[in-house]
Amino acid sequence: MHPSHLPSPIARGLIAAPRVITCDPHRPDPLGVVENGAVLIEGGHVVAVDHLHTLRSSGAPVVLHGQGVLTPGLVDAHTHAAWVGSRHDEYRIRMAGGDYEAIARAGGGIRSTMRSVREIPQKELERQLWCRLRRMLSQGVTTIEVKSGYGLDEANERKQLLAIRYAGTAPELPRVVPTYLALHAVPPEFEGQRTTYAAAVLPWLRAIAQEGLAQFVDAYVDRSAFSVDEAEPALRMARELGLGVRLHAGQFADIGACELAARVGASSADHLEHVGPAAIEALAGAGVAAVMLPVASFTLGQAPPPVGALRKAGIPLVVASDANPGTAPTESLPLAMALAARLYGLSPTECLLGATRLAAESLGLTGVAGILAPGASADLVLWELPHEDALVQPWGPPPVEAVVLRGVRVY
Ligand SMILES: [Zn+2]
Repeated sequence: MHPSHLPSPIARGLIAAPRVITCDPHRPDPLGVVENGAVLIEGGHVVAVDHLHTLRSSGAPVVLHGQGVLTPGLVDAHTHAAWVGSRHDEYRIRMAGGDYEAIARAGGGIRSTMRSVREIPQKELERQLWCRLRRMLSQGVTTIEVKSGYGLDEANERKQLLAIRYAGTAPELPRVVPTYLALHAVPPEFEGQRTTYAAAVLPWLRAIAQEGLAQFVDAYVDRSAFSVDEAEPALRMARELGLGVRLHAGQFADIGACELAARVGASSADHLEHVGPAAIEALAGAGVAAVMLPVASFTLGQAPPPVGALRKAGIPLVVASDANPGTAPTESLPLAMALAARLYGLSPTECLLGATRLAAESLGLTGVAGILAPGASADLVLWELPHEDALVQPWGPPPVEAVVLRGVRVY
């Protein structure tokens, strides 16, 4: 879609619904519900949220009047959306009993997608990412974190990040938060030299930061991935360069990734299927958000993270899709929310907050995204649902009536 084909922005108007879910923590109930509410938007931003009859006195026209629920645009805080290729072969093997770590050792998994990403021209990578992000937008996602991590050398990581940057400039796509996934897997040219590879990425990281291609740096710290000692220098460098840190932590084993996340001042620790009490204490003490990825644990047949202990420790619970071609072959954040309710025991309220305000806060977008309050970006979704709790019930995307992004009706 060329920008000139985009509908024109709503200059000033009201968007109304029987149930307006603000996710505003300054309101008395957890979701900040306004019944028979409306949102006054102007110039791409939210100006006021109140009862419709109150806001009518502003003189602004009602431009959209939904019949169900109005929420902030959803925020997907963990995706590998810049992938290409298909891993249906290894899925068949896994369904026949092969395990993830064995497939990775045999050259499948991340390395398989690496080959696809290395082969593809940047323009085609951009096109496929554009299509994927449009589909995600149609499910109500207006902000999305996208990681690199399938190039595994400087040129191809940069190619992925340039495609992600291109997506971030397209007004018809969700707001994009780019992450350099510096340590995802060891490429074949560094076979058997994991520690050497972990050091080799440092100059790439410096160049990527200087070019402004990433806001966060990520590393996969786990039993079959990188060790704490291997990952720490890159994460420390990221912080020194002014970037945030997100970590793949505790997916298969607790090797101290959460303590590392706390030490380097990470914004989030993601996965957490296998973390113990010390890890949880470290996250709580350092204010690190826990990003739950239930689609991946569902695909891999894993037990849930210790949600009760994370909740008790007061750690923000974020829900994300983990969209990737292997362990979370989905483009649906609503599916992740539904699985977070069914498999992880998150309440519908926790699922919604974890896919809006708390996700945005973990991405450094406090007050900008994931919330309907004065000053926030006018990112809203009208759902054809009788109640917000119904968002986590369907297996498949709940019905979307309209998506407004930065004050423009994009869907
Ligand atoms: Zn991931």
